[in-house]
Amino acid sequence: MAPITKKPAEDVKYDYLCIGGGSGGVASSRRAASYGKKVALVEVSPNLGGTCVNVGCVPKKIMWHAADLADKIRHASSGYHFAGLSEPAFDWKTFKPQRDAYIRRLNKIYENNLDKEHVDYYAGRGTLISPTSVEVTPPSGEKYILNADKILLATGGKPTIPSDDDIPGASLGIDSDGFFDLEEQPKRVAVVGAGYIAVELAGVLHTLGSETHVIIRHDRVLRTFDPLLQDTLTPWMEHTGIKVHKNSNVVKVEGQKGQTLTVHKADGSKVEVDCLLWAIGRHSDIAALGLDKVGVETDAKGNVKTDEWQKSNIDNIYSVGDLTGKWELTPVAIAAGRRLSNRLFGGEKFKNDRLKYEDIPSVVFSHPTIGTVGLTEPEARKKYGDDKVKIYKSSFRSLYFSQIAEEHKEPTAYKLVCVGEEERVVGLHIIGQGSDEILQGFSVAVKMGATKQDFDDTVAIHPTSSEELVTMR
Ligand code: FAD
Ligand code: NDP
Repeated sequence: MAPITKKPAEDVKYDYLCIGGGSGGVASSRRAASYGKKVALVEVSPNLGGTCVNVGCVPKKIMWHAADLADKIRHASSGYHFAGLSEPAFDWKTFKPQRDAYIRRLNKIYENNLDKEHVDYYAGRGTLISPTSVEVTPPSGEKYILNADKILLATGGKPTIPSDDDIPGASLGIDSDGFFDLEEQPKRVAVVGAGYIAVELAGVLHTLGSETHVIIRHDRVLRTFDPLLQDTLTPWMEHTGIKVHKNSNVVKVEGQKGQTLTVHKADGSKVEVDCLLWAIGRHSDIAALGLDKVGVETDAKGNVKTDEWQKSNIDNIYSVGDLTGKWELTPVAIAAGRRLSNRLFGGEKFKNDRLKYEDIPSVVFSHPTIGTVGLTEPEARKKYGDDKVKIYKSSFRSLYFSQIAEEHKEPTAYKLVCVGEEERVVGLHIIGQGSDEILQGFSVAVKMGATKQDFDDTVAIHPTSSEELVTMR
């Protein structure tokens, strides 16, 4: 059913109202409605589903698959002796509309799911005006007010771009939202940043054939990840031909959008590209949310402060997802949203339900992929002391690459971070082909408190890469 675009004829009071129809808001509203509650959801974008569906995980992973196929075609031709394959030529221009059409189908499925669950879906911007009321500004027409006993704030975040005052010409660049708008593949691109998005999008662009520069402030990418991952991925990116500009800061950008851009660095050198992509983090967008009017507390970064039950400082106002600034991942927003609704509306059985923010698994869709759960080695050493921490490591080339020329053999590197006499596995960090799929099962083990002995007691699956995780010495 299409969203509601104007004030409802009768005055309705909702049990629960969610502002934001992304991963957290949709999951939480549907779960609340499944308990028979009267639920409303307000979404400002015409496309339901939030960042993940529209400009995040989903289109990104599709692009990663395209890039992965390009690599596989190269391997098939040069290593596995498939005849008739030439250097893959990706047709971005015709692929993009197909990808977009799939996303539009997902938007519709999200809408249908709200409908099936009897969540009233309102199109418009939601602004808090009291602890129990939200003003809705629809795309056209008059503003109106919806009332609810409990309100969820799940408005996510948006990409950060430096201001033109700080870096003249910065606005000539695009952000990750802009990446998904690109109608054509840029021939030359500079990506600024060293986190998830920089690594993932630079990897896609490079593998699909763009000349790719990555401009980082320090000497490695993914500096918040375990050192093994940083030290394996950074040189591999360089080895494959990505130009990593280390210890570099952009100070000025010149040119015109759609034409050659000159990116000036602090050391006086410059890079000429067709596209500049900022990937330096994201921030909450709270300007129009009305938090100050109602006194909802935020931290210095503008994230809504919540307790371990997702509750803000105002009794009946809650928040989940990126807006809370904790683990900006879709499954985290979904899990926090669903558990909150279980607890608020699901009865006695769920009275203590909440998301625990420890041992959250995460994957970086780099080339090769990275999987990580639990503490990094430095975090474990700091928390438990050097003498309590034992590290197991392994580096190798997977069997798949045995038929591939030496220079194209991707690295695989695994680390287990163990603690105490029982060697409980408190961190698991892996890079190498298939790490994205390997991680989920091992995260269950880490979450359950598995020890190194439990890993050793598990019979290996041969021949796989992941068998190495249960045979380390
Ligand atoms: P969002 O999904 O951002 O939803 C917020 C919604 O609120 C939006 O639809 C917005 O339009 C709406 N809104 C904002 N203000 C208002 C208002 N005032 N009134 C009404 N509606 C409003 N995570 C992963 O787990 N795996 C990945 O592979 C992954 N890849 C990513 C790739 C990229 C490029 C990006 C940018 C993010 C990626 N993420 C990934 C992160 C993931 O997308 C987010 O963590 C997740 O979407 C957060 O969900 P949310 O519900 O908090 O916010
Ligand atoms: P991140 O926070 O992951 O990384 C941004 C990095 O950019 C920082 O770590 C920093 O690295 C660097 N940086 C920060 N400011 C500047 C600056 N002014 N100039 C140059 N570099 C700068 O942010 P992303 O934008 O990559 O992603 C946002 C979030 O979205 C992620 O944290 C993640 O939670 C989520 N996401 C998840 C994905 C997944 O699950 N696969 C994929 C994509 C996003 P340094 O300090 O080393 O310079």
